[in-house]
Amino acid sequence: MSIKLYNTATRSKEVFTPIDPDNVRMYVCGPTVYDRAHLGNARPVVVFDVLNRLLRHMYGDDHVTYVRNFTDVDDKINATALARKEAGADSSIEELVRERSDETIRWYHEDMDALGTLRPDHEPRATEYIAQMVAMIADLIAKGHAYEAEGHVLFKVSSYKDYGKLSGRKVEDMIAGARVEVAPYKEDPMDFVLWKPSTDELPGWDSPWGRGRPGWHIECSAMAFELLGARFDIHGGGNDLQFPHHENEIAQSKCAGHEFASVWMHNEMLQVEGKKMSKSLGNFFTVRDLLDQGVPGEVIRFVMLSTHYRKPMDWTEKKREEAEKTLRKWYAQAEQGVGKRKPNDTVIQALKDDLNTAGAIAELHQLSLADDIGALRYSLQFLGLMGDTIPSWAQEYQVDLKAYEELVSSVRSAAMESKDFSALDKLKSRLDDAGVEVRMTKEGVDLLTTSRFDPIKLEALK
Ligand code: AMP
Ligand code: ZN
Repeated sequence: MSIKLYNTATRSKEVFTPIDPDNVRMYVCGPTVYDRAHLGNARPVVVFDVLNRLLRHMYGDDHVTYVRNFTDVDDKINATALARKEAGADSSIEELVRERSDETIRWYHEDMDALGTLRPDHEPRATEYIAQMVAMIADLIAKGHAYEAEGHVLFKVSSYKDYGKLSGRKVEDMIAGARVEVAPYKEDPMDFVLWKPSTDELPGWDSPWGRGRPGWHIECSAMAFELLGARFDIHGGGNDLQFPHHENEIAQSKCAGHEFASVWMHNEMLQVEGKKMSKSLGNFFTVRDLLDQGVPGEVIRFVMLSTHYRKPMDWTEKKREEAEKTLRKWYAQAEQGVGKRKPNDTVIQALKDDLNTAGAIAELHQLSLADDIGALRYSLQFLGLMGDTIPSWAQEYQVDLKAYEELVSSVRSAAMESKDFSALDKLKSRLDDAGVEVRMTKEGVDLLTTSRFDPIKLEALK
């Protein structure tokens, strides 16, 4: 069975046929690097990481090229750089901008690595592809799809007949929805910026239209073309990017004569306890906030994978607790797992069906119930939920179990001496209540977690 993927462009689940199986190519819109990534930003990263892993599994590790960009041309980055300059920083504005995006990229890598995501093959920074953007803009002007006005270059939306097709919007509705900026230099309010002037105190690049900077959309079109070519397989990002960002990317690239992406994939948004995550609601947090609170990256990843990427995903405290409990149980089993170093077929089958990660997790439950610990181990590893060994936060608990074993041993010795087994029975029943099975042999005491294992109840035994 081949991979099936839902294509936003055709609104249907399609059999995925790579343009070139020797080089399957995927572009995903990456972050604007002005600050720490929030939990919602992590969703596309995790979703497309699973797809990257699946493609590599199917076509071979050397036959997939995954590109995810960094947008490092941005007002908020400039604002931080300016503030540092005003505070007395002794560097140029360009250096301060670079410093801010460097530190944000470093954080991004730390945080996304903690979620078990593999780094893409290329992570282009917009500022390193300005020449390619300028060339593409010049080409669009030459072909009559763009025009210069007051130091700006604008894309002429009316010159591309399929505009709005991806997101299924009518041009009139888009104007009515006031999602477009009206400006005196625009021939039409729908037209969007390819290039805009920079002020003297802000970073800018020389161009045929004066010193300025690129618009956001042209960045992705130019970097995808440079690194993946005029035609590639998959383009991904969050739902919120469908319009205007992806609509504009398509218009620019198609009008430049590129075939561009065959399959468009969009993840739904993340919410928190049923509400949109926002600063004003006070439920806004970053991935780093969670990691610092002691929520392991594997737990965050598990919760994300438990919802299909095309459904809104709700981050809840309850899900976090359950994910941790399940993972601890699975790690305890998987630690002993040996066998073929490959994920179980049932897990792969689920993923091949439009990345059904929730189905893949259900298959992990089956493997755990069947005590197929080798398959469980390598499937956990494949899904990025475990490295070569179980994570240290779960190992700490393994050590803890040893402490309980010693406790049972000493209570047992005392019971044998006094012939009063009531304390031992009481301890065993409390362990049973926490989902821990007690096995006593002549050699000693073994404690084993069962599927009912509850680390919080065990902790309460101390
Ligand atoms: P940005 O840095 O805002 O351009 O966003 C980077 C990525 O995060 C994009 O693919 C967005 O679609 C995605 N994203 C932003 N907010 C959310 C959210 N609440 N849930 C899921 N994805 C999101
Ligand atoms: Zn993009």
